[in-house]
Amino acid sequence: MSIARKPGFAYDGKTLSADGLPLPELAERFGTPLYVYSGPLLRENFRLLREPFAGADPMVAYSVKANSNLAVLDLLHREGAYFDIVSGGELKRVLKAGIPADRAIFAGVGKTAAEMRAALRAGVMEFNLESEQEAERLAAVAKSLRRRADVAIRINPNVDAKTHKYITTGKTENKFGISLDRALRLARRIAEEMPALNLAGLHCHIGSQILDSSIHPNVVAIVMDFVDEVERATGGKLDTLNFGGGYGIAYERGQQPLDLRPFAEALLPELKKRGLRLILEPGRSIAAPAGLLLSRVEYVKPGDAKTFVVLDAAMTELLRPALYRAYHEILPVEKHPMPQGLVDFVGPVCETGDFLALDREAFVPHEGDLIAVMDAGAYGFVMASNYNTRPMPPEVLVDGGEAHLVRKRQTYGDLLRLESIPPRSAGAPNT
Ligand SMILES: *Cc1c(COP(=O)(O)O)cnc(C)c1O
Repeated sequence: MSIARKPGFAYDGKTLSADGLPLPELAERFGTPLYVYSGPLLRENFRLLREPFAGADPMVAYSVKANSNLAVLDLLHREGAYFDIVSGGELKRVLKAGIPADRAIFAGVGKTAAEMRAALRAGVMEFNLESEQEAERLAAVAKSLRRRADVAIRINPNVDAKTHKYITTGKTENKFGISLDRALRLARRIAEEMPALNLAGLHCHIGSQILDSSIHPNVVAIVMDFVDEVERATGGKLDTLNFGGGYGIAYERGQQPLDLRPFAEALLPELKKRGLRLILEPGRSIAAPAGLLLSRVEYVKPGDAKTFVVLDAAMTELLRPALYRAYHEILPVEKHPMPQGLVDFVGPVCETGDFLALDREAFVPHEGDLIAVMDAGAYGFVMASNYNTRPMPPEVLVDGGEAHLVRKRQTYGDLLRLESIPPRSAGAPNT
């Protein structure tokens, strides 16, 4: 008889498990470092996010860059997701996962003509435009293919999302989007001079990991006024409003994830009034809590001020702490009696910035113990690198009570295959 339980990561007795599968068994079977994702948790997060907006029947376009594993894309496709892509490579992934191109929205500040051609030929649903120059290029590419492209202008409402400066995107000093007066001029130009483009909507994404629930309701008012302004100026009607993603999660104990209800309450009546279809683009809030990075302790090195726990995972597996000083909770996989202390959890990479946690009041594990770095399902594996010639870790999806290897560990052969040494004569010194 199966017992109903919350999906995801929890202790079964003293052992941390993923949907009932003990993590030590996964470490044994697949090795460490290892990414582990929970299928049930991915589904639950997708549904929870959709819920407050259900009255508007939103298109939830999962932000592929957060976690682009084909198995994750396939799982979310089955849940009814749309997909937000930012490169030709992500387009390939979506297609490879068997997702129809008209479920994909192509965003990003630097789309090349080749990427535009590929996306138009595949038949993506719409392009988010980040500049007037990009609109001109897309119009030319679409014309040459004798196609018409649906576009949304990404506006920059100049609001502060009160998040880390590297992930704030809605201020005038950020490279993203177009200021409102420029966007209005562009909307007019598209309507009057660019027949290869169809202005389908507006797009607005102001930052990532937003936790302050008053930010979005304020932006709703700005964006809705602007919708009206664009419709007056062009004499046309917009179909879609894409409100981006960026919904914050609780990385730290005691934090609360972003409450989406005030946003939905402000937004839904305004959408209805204008007959606009809602698009949302969450990445982190779906994938981050649904994944962890499993790592083994290689050394425990006592220092004068603190203890260094040297892991087999590093900034090469999870870059966020080094890049943003991001906080990830670290849990022991087996709860056995352990001393407490001031700990740096570090990797073996030759960089002072190579840490997963700094100055943490935490358990001091033993050599050979397993630890889990939590909330690593988004912006984790996708930012992995081969620095220090370290093979990228495998990814496992736990679903239906089974562990599926959805990406193999890279081998040294994989790492060296693309390189070659020129023939001797090419660089030989003159004699
Ligand atoms: C990264 C990104 C998202 C997703 O952000 P999350 O913080 O992962 O929800 C959505 N839209 C755009 C345009 C993005 O660049």
